[in-house]
Amino acid sequence: MRKKLIAANWKMHKTAEQARAFISAFLPEVREHTRDEIVLCPPFTAIHAVAEALGDSGIGTGGQDLFWEQKGAYTGAISAQMLCAAGCSHVLVGHSERRQYFGETDDTVNRKLKAALHGGLKPILCVGEVIQEREAGRTKEVLRRQCSIAFREVSSDQAISLIVAYEPIWAIGTGRTATPELAGEAHYTIRAEAAGAFGKGVAEQMRILYGGSVKPENATLLMSHPDIDGALVGGASLEPKSFTAIVKY
Ligand code: PEP
Repeated sequence: MRKKLIAANWKMHKTAEQARAFISAFLPEVREHTRDEIVLCPPFTAIHAVAEALGDSGIGTGGQDLFWEQKGAYTGAISAQMLCAAGCSHVLVGHSERRQYFGETDDTVNRKLKAALHGGLKPILCVGEVIQEREAGRTKEVLRRQCSIAFREVSSDQAISLIVAYEPIWAIGTGRTATPELAGEAHYTIRAEAAGAFGKGVAEQMRILYGGSVKPENATLLMSHPDIDGALVGGASLEPKSFTAIVKY
């Protein structure tokens, strides 16, 4: 049985103070909740405050991005080592907004994924198709390409701490959600790609999350699909009440 993981992606929202206020309201609601793993991914400037406020609650802290070098003249960049030192256990890699607005490619995603694993972080690799690709029947091909390049030079041992989030881009922040069946099909493709790269045993253990307009109203339906191992939640993770409702689907 794969333990489900519910991760919050706060994107460019919340100062350190606002993050602390969220945790003061959220933590008492989920302190006894051990059924699922929970991770909060704040902006860089709130990571330390979040990790400190979460303390030994068992809830993880994640970065939203990293650079592949360890240190050096890379203005504005943050390394895996810096994220770990600030209190992160996880990091998002290749989110579609990074690909769309910051020029990330499958190749840079692969470099970041390897750096995260090398630095001791658990990467949440984001993959997904745009609407034109889905309508042209190219979803499988896109997912296979994104995964096969991201998985290059990653060993089966390292892949044990790898998490994948299937996020159809047409569902992110749009209110449109994939049906559980449609997400399940995509998860099947991703797991098959992982089996080819890392072996069936590792692929069976790998958690594949769904992301794209997950809300309290649709979380139960999505999470009850056996191939959906959790959720990556954007908009609905910003309020303690709605994120609590999703965690307790
Ligand atoms: C996301 O940013 O990863 C995401 C899924 O956003 P939303 O839940 O707002 O669609």
